[in-house]
Amino acid sequence: MTQDLTLQEERTAVSDLGRQMLDQGLTTGTGGNISARNGDRVAISPSGMPYDEIDPEDVPIVDLNGNHLEGDRKPSSEFRMHTDVIRERDDVGGVVHTHSPYASTFASLGEPIPASHYLIAFIGNKIPVAPYETYGTAELAEAALDALGEEYNACLLEQHGVLAVGDSVEAAFEVALMVEYCARIHYQAVSIGEPNIVPDEEIETLLDRFEDYGQDH
Ligand SMILES: [Zn+2]
Repeated sequence: MTQDLTLQEERTAVSDLGRQMLDQGLTTGTGGNISARNGDRVAISPSGMPYDEIDPEDVPIVDLNGNHLEGDRKPSSEFRMHTDVIRERDDVGGVVHTHSPYASTFASLGEPIPASHYLIAFIGNKIPVAPYETYGTAELAEAALDALGEEYNACLLEQHGVLAVGDSVEAAFEVALMVEYCARIHYQAVSIGEPNIVPDEEIETLLDRFEDYGQDH
């Protein structure tokens, strides 16, 4: 039986990507959260529910100020990071927050990840760090927004995890995967030597290339 669900596509994407987040090792338990925007509404993962149990109808809908509009489940306690970023950045169609282990290691050190691998251009010329604030607070959302600015597609959240954005929730998920990959490579590289860093002008070239690639879709 087909069900008529508001924002069906976005809710399905949140449900599917939640399972992928676990499968890809980007988080453990109920940590992290995912949101997909449609205009001035946002489908966001529910609070405290295991990812492999979240079906599209479990995904609540909030407005750009985080007010709960629809769905029986309570929106993620970290909704502010999602709605504040979506509200402030017109280019953002989806947000993925993870506690992925390699990236969280650098987040624990409060250290930005430099461009020791070219794929960091998915994010920018580095992965910046937002200073520590308590999870779920407006202060954390503000710190994340400051770190992202207009140009970065992800930042580390000090002693916490990762915030990744994209023009769609699928793109944001891809960015979250790239963050973890680049963090792992950087970790390995500094473990055995001193990595070379891709120069800023080459990052610019890569950003242009990625943009052209994106337009092919
Ligand atoms: Zn978190």
